[in-house]
Amino acid sequence: MMKRIKVKNLLSNPELGSDVLVKGWVRTKRGNKNIIFVALNDGSTINNIQVVVEVASFDENLLKEISTGACIGVTGKLIESQGQGQHIEISAATIEIYGKSDAETYPLQKKGHSMEFLRENAHLRFRTNTFGAVFRIRHAMAFAIHKYFNDKGFIYLHTPIITGSDCEGAGEMFHVTTMDLKNMPRTADGSVDYNNDFFGKETNLTVSGQLEGELGALSLGDIYTFGPTFRAENSNTPRHLAEFWMIEPEMAFYDLTDNMDLAEDFVKYLIRYALDNCIEDLEFLNNMIDKALLERLKFVVDNEFVRITYTEAVSILTSSGKQWEYQVDWGRDLQAEHERYLVEEHFKRPVILTDYPKEIKAFYMKQNDDGKTVRAMDVLFPGIGEIIGGSQREEQYDRLLSRIKELKLQEKDFWWYLDTRRFGSAPHSGFGLGFERLILFVTGMANIRDVIPFPRTPKNAEF
Ligand code: ATP
Ligand code: MN
Repeated sequence: MMKRIKVKNLLSNPELGSDVLVKGWVRTKRGNKNIIFVALNDGSTINNIQVVVEVASFDENLLKEISTGACIGVTGKLIESQGQGQHIEISAATIEIYGKSDAETYPLQKKGHSMEFLRENAHLRFRTNTFGAVFRIRHAMAFAIHKYFNDKGFIYLHTPIITGSDCEGAGEMFHVTTMDLKNMPRTADGSVDYNNDFFGKETNLTVSGQLEGELGALSLGDIYTFGPTFRAENSNTPRHLAEFWMIEPEMAFYDLTDNMDLAEDFVKYLIRYALDNCIEDLEFLNNMIDKALLERLKFVVDNEFVRITYTEAVSILTSSGKQWEYQVDWGRDLQAEHERYLVEEHFKRPVILTDYPKEIKAFYMKQNDDGKTVRAMDVLFPGIGEIIGGSQREEQYDRLLSRIKELKLQEKDFWWYLDTRRFGSAPHSGFGLGFERLILFVTGMANIRDVIPFPRTPKNAEF
């Protein structure tokens, strides 16, 4: 038995005259009564291999079954191509049909489909050039993330997906329960009694692994998490998912500047990795999806990010002469329109904003001595807005506790978190990179639903 070769390997190192076996899905079939050309794709690369079939040498019924979408295996000789568009092709000796495909009802026809249509057919959209490219790049980015941190001596820490704590003290979480929703046990005061629930307490899907990540960093030094996170926010935007993946490094002995340096180096590394390792897919996306993609990626790699405070940003925005949909006022959170103005119009490069008002940031961020701001940082990207959110953490027990009380959070819920500030606390920092926002940027895709295999968004959990 001949061993199957992947099309990517075949094309990168072709041995003309050798006999090969390839397996894949028929993208197109054309020809005449003497000869048929089949474009075969096996997902290993954006490129197809052309299979040339002499009609006279094959059974007529078998040839009929080679239709768009069908899965076939082909043996044959690798030869130089006579036609245009490819250097090599396979002159077919045998063809096996693994899975027929009815050309009439196959959803992916030759004409270009809308992104919406392909989302409804997400089970098949991997078979298009665009989604093949996107998901190969997504894989490469996941690999590069692990490589980056591994090379730097970070420990990959698996923080829990089911949690008993609400990281931000915010709502918007998905409950986890095994109780009968039609018959929930109640306490005397009428609230839900979780004592008999699976965990004996209220639990949720995690919105962030940060708090547990901090516990790791304050022992292991440098850690990172990379896992799914869940937010029940009802934001129907092209940048929000209810289930998304987040990378959260957390580093002992890092101050905010170290944190910004790492974030900038990290995303530049990832984009460079994509340029070095995914160029065929990127060129395809550059041609078909976003003509400025490659230029933008190179620009970000080659230029320093601007670093300014929230307060400076507010004064740029208020003196811009722009009419905003949402008002800009010191103390209010910035909206996407403000972030995009700073990045796309004012500075024309990625911007890191720091030192936000404490009221609009989470309780765990290190308080500045001005009593008003915290050592937060948001990294803002062209076309995306916020891609990273992070901060130096409050390492002082008293200040952390007073903030927890001020915000009326339950001190007892955070006993383990506070413990790290009681026993060998250390300055430390970290951030969260939204994986899909990174993939949006790297691929030039416009909607976050198109960079995750099966998106979960309000009213949508198909597949
Ligand atoms: P935004 O203001 O855009 O909703 P956020 O301030 O809620 O973001 P963080 O809590 O700081 O975001 O989360 C860290 C990172 O996770 C963000 O910078 C972003 O890249 C990503 N992120 C946050 N929420 C979502 C979401 N619903 N879908 C996809 N990615 C998200
Ligand atoms: Mn959010």
